[in-house]
Amino acid sequence: MSHLVSVIVHTPAHSGLADVLSYESAEILPIGTLVRVPLGKRELLGVVWDASPASDNAIAEKQNGSDTPSSNTALTLRPISSVLGGIAPLNTHWCDLVRFAAHYYQRSVGEVALAALPNQLRELSAEQWTRRLTRQSKAAEPVSPKIFAAPASTPEQAQVLQNIATHKGPFLLYGNTGSGKTEVYLRAAQSQLAKDASAQILVMVPEINLTPQLESRFRERFAPQWGDDCVVAMHSNLTPAQRLKNWLAAHNGQARIVLGTRMAVFASMPHLQLIVVDEEHDPSYKQQEGARYSARDLAIYRGQLENAKVILGSATPSLESWHHSRPATGTTQAGRYMRLHMPSRVGDGALPFVRRVDMNHQPKKTVFSSQLLDAMRERVTRGEQILVLLNRRGYAPVLHCPDCDWKSQCPHCSAFRVFHKLDRTLRCHHCSFTQSVPRACPACGNADIQPLGRGTEQLEEHLGELLSDVRRADGEPLCISRIDADSTRLKGELERQLAEVHAGAVDVLVGTQMIAKGHDFRRVSLVAAMNPDGALFSSDFRAPERLFSLLMQAAGRAGRDTQMQRISPCEMWVQTFHPQHPLFEALKQHDYPAFAAQQLGERQQAQLPPFSFQALVRAEARDQTAAQTFLNAMRDAGAGLAESLQIDIYPAVPMAMQRVANIERAQMLIECQSRKALQQFLSIWHPQVHALRAEHRQIIRWAIDVDPLAI
Ligand code: ADP
Ligand code: ZN
Ligand code: ZN
Repeated sequence: MSHLVSVIVHTPAHSGLADVLSYESAEILPIGTLVRVPLGKRELLGVVWDASPASDNAIAEKQNGSDTPSSNTALTLRPISSVLGGIAPLNTHWCDLVRFAAHYYQRSVGEVALAALPNQLRELSAEQWTRRLTRQSKAAEPVSPKIFAAPASTPEQAQVLQNIATHKGPFLLYGNTGSGKTEVYLRAAQSQLAKDASAQILVMVPEINLTPQLESRFRERFAPQWGDDCVVAMHSNLTPAQRLKNWLAAHNGQARIVLGTRMAVFASMPHLQLIVVDEEHDPSYKQQEGARYSARDLAIYRGQLENAKVILGSATPSLESWHHSRPATGTTQAGRYMRLHMPSRVGDGALPFVRRVDMNHQPKKTVFSSQLLDAMRERVTRGEQILVLLNRRGYAPVLHCPDCDWKSQCPHCSAFRVFHKLDRTLRCHHCSFTQSVPRACPACGNADIQPLGRGTEQLEEHLGELLSDVRRADGEPLCISRIDADSTRLKGELERQLAEVHAGAVDVLVGTQMIAKGHDFRRVSLVAAMNPDGALFSSDFRAPERLFSLLMQAAGRAGRDTQMQRISPCEMWVQTFHPQHPLFEALKQHDYPAFAAQQLGERQQAQLPPFSFQALVRAEARDQTAAQTFLNAMRDAGAGLAESLQIDIYPAVPMAMQRVANIERAQMLIECQSRKALQQFLSIWHPQVHALRAEHRQIIRWAIDVDPLAI
């Protein structure tokens, strides 16, 4: 007797295949079972799926039009090849999360589901799989009764933990850097485990290699009682074998704590009871390709689904989360999140004093103001460390000929190639096109071509000269180091460089935003931000929000050692041409609420998120007009529906980075006051306009980004 099973496999949205395929099986297979199925001549990993939800099938039928491969007609059902037995099926909550994410972000369930599973699952044969499972079950180790002695909570921490224990959430934990948020996560996880020994906790961080200490903090806290395997990592730097191992540990409930990047939001965790999203404002929670999901937003959804508590933590919350956690006023309702505040630093360390240097009063072409240089000299001779933040790598963003005005334009992109002095190259940061630096101007032959503007390489070099006469407290010359995407290209290099800073071997660290995040550098007493003015006048409405949080984070690197603070109060310096700008005023006061109120006011006036909801359609073609014509055709096709749902579709425009690698890019913004209406619109419109592509043969790629972060 054979049974009909529905299976999802990795099919991109609108690949012409149905979302859910049908097969035959000798046994009844529960939903969520991992199987291998034949498709054409290939054999693919699949997940047994519930065929009934109308939403999956409505789209599937639409796509399963006349020209689709007919390997799956109802009459000639093929049997599934094998079942990956020995483990529990993926549970209903997991399937629901995948279904929701696929629907919300306009992708196929197969794509979302299979992308969330470790790659190695696809590659293992049935025998390899069995062997793999045997090895995994052997890996389980004994548990010792030791308990780690955690520090007593501060009153603020105790208050917050009390709230987390007694309310449903979701919670926005708004606490300064160093206020003890991580300690709150650890405690909340501990009490969850104390209540239920099978509990699982998901802790998400933006970029795991930037927070090397976090994993050891969790391990140190939980391994004594729960064993070394109780904390597993989940991020893209793991080897395929590690990833499968950790995935299995989470899936079979052995891992108590899963620590990961955005992909971990899809970890299979049957006993999930607590989700932490640390640095919840960080843009890297948004996936930028394929299914463009927001792991933070999915965490909230998943928490609801699984009845798990969700804590979003940040010193500078996203304006979305800040808005969602607004307290009730006389006239307005409170937001959906509960806001918890920890204003003080543990040990009462002060936040750095912010100094703004007005660059209008500096001699022309000044890089480091003399005041800043003096302060740096003084501190390094006392053995303190300094961070210099500049969000631009390379030596100079442009190479320029003063005679004929030639610039190092990338021939393939609408961008300049960056001058890298160390290897004497001109490199495009968008398409990677690299050439060695020409000896003379390619246009007029002038031998005197010059760098324009500056990047981290140049700052490092420049500081070396300016501070060449300074000696460390031990009489040795200064060590000036640089951390950015270039210096850390080799595997392990970032960890090595960070370890050097921690060990105190580095006196001055120059770097991009990579140095601003999460690190617990103990001896840093001065942080300098070099001309961050660009973001003040950017066309991206989120640029000020990002700048403010970057500067607050960077400031948070200073003064983490309270003893040192007593001798030498820490400072943050900002060199700017706009010292009076409200953003810097708020920074000076460490007043995130004031900054947020001002920004939210502007957003409300302009009806921008979180007061409206957006989706962005991007199209790429060799030709800008072709890309725009396609988008505008989609716009016309949706005009009636959009009007009835009160949705605005703006005409197509070139993207800010219009051309990358000789591909022209255009975008079209869709906006609505109601998230629900926007979702309704997309789910009807998207399958319809998909057919339009056949008439626009020049289109290379196109995609919808729901809740886009960059416009
Ligand atoms: P955040 O995550 O908010 O930056 P952390 O949790 O890392 O803050 O805490 C900052 C520092 O204070 C860490 O070195 C941590 O070990 C210490 N700390 C946190 N909570 C306590 C506490 N209750 N008692 C003593 N030290 C604490
Ligand atoms: Zn020239
Ligand atoms: Zn390029």
